[in-house]
Amino acid sequence: MAGVPFILCENLVKIYKVANLEVVALQGLDLTVNRGEMVGLVGTSGSGKTTLMNILGGMDRPSAGRVWVDGDDLLKLSDHLLDRYRQTKVGFVWQQGSRNLVSYLDALANVSVPMRLDGLDQKETRRRSVELLEAVGLSDRQNHTLGQLSGGEQQRVAIAVALANQPALLLADEPTGEVDTATAQSIFRIFRDLNLRLELTIIIVSHDPGIARYVDRVIAIRDGKTASETIRQEPVVGSDIDEEEKYEELTVLDSVGRLQVPKEYLERYNIQGRARLDLVEEGILIRPAPRETSTTQKVDEFVVGRPQKKVFFSRWSQRIQRIFRPGGKA
Ligand code: ADP
Ligand code: MG
Repeated sequence: MAGVPFILCENLVKIYKVANLEVVALQGLDLTVNRGEMVGLVGTSGSGKTTLMNILGGMDRPSAGRVWVDGDDLLKLSDHLLDRYRQTKVGFVWQQGSRNLVSYLDALANVSVPMRLDGLDQKETRRRSVELLEAVGLSDRQNHTLGQLSGGEQQRVAIAVALANQPALLLADEPTGEVDTATAQSIFRIFRDLNLRLELTIIIVSHDPGIARYVDRVIAIRDGKTASETIRQEPVVGSDIDEEEKYEELTVLDSVGRLQVPKEYLERYNIQGRARLDLVEEGILIRPAPRETSTTQKVDEFVVGRPQKKVFFSRWSQRIQRIFRPGGKA
């Protein structure tokens, strides 16, 4: 479908019911990913990353909202078609290599399993399996079983397995969660290489801040909602700024203009419940709303660059205090 993003989530809600309790895992999440994009997904534990991956992978259905992947409206697919979607369009890589693989089979046989199940003949299966192991840099480990491979090598076999059925979308949920930094980097590099060579759309959940340099965008989820995006800035030719400065984290607005303000910002300025928005020269200023009682002094602190108003507030505050608390000190 022309003009439609490869992945589109609108106002996605997922509520888990456990006994009499309801857990809201996704609360109105919006997400757009283009075909061929490689995206990192970050967020604290419990923020809804796995829930989102399960929905995109057709393993779970949302409670409300809309989700399209590659032209399929996942909410409208029958159970049978959703099974088919999961088997043909999506590849998964999980955190533990063991979850991705059959322990007593060698690497080659592991990669062959999905193709044989899909009815591909033995010769073609073998040819493709060899090719896939080569693509993840494991040609020399074809006949090693799980126990004979390192954690990083197991994850590379897992990536080859995930690609066996030529999916259009690859989902990896903390694939580097159990390997060291150097191995994590080599795994990110393989994902990037596959992304570019096969025009594969990839979403990787990760806790590794270093992921930013391997992906097109890093999306942060907070409390079941898309909160911010980190994009790589175009390097300035000839500049000597360091790596850190080439990334910029942007807050995401949802379809009706709501945005999530980071908790630490709110706490720093003691903003709760309501806030005051003002247009200033550079943009929009968010300030604490004045409380009903004598909190006007607090407001003073945040009126930056407007001395005349600050004076006004202080005087006003003093007057109010005189009126309501005779003898009270300002
Ligand atoms: P993340 O992957 O970011 O750590 P999850 O998507 O696993 O987060 O979980 C989001 C929230 O939903 C958490 O509060 C979690 O406890 C809850 N949750 C996840 N899966 C289930 C489930 N199957 N049943 C009940 N609650 C769940
Ligand atoms: Mg998770």
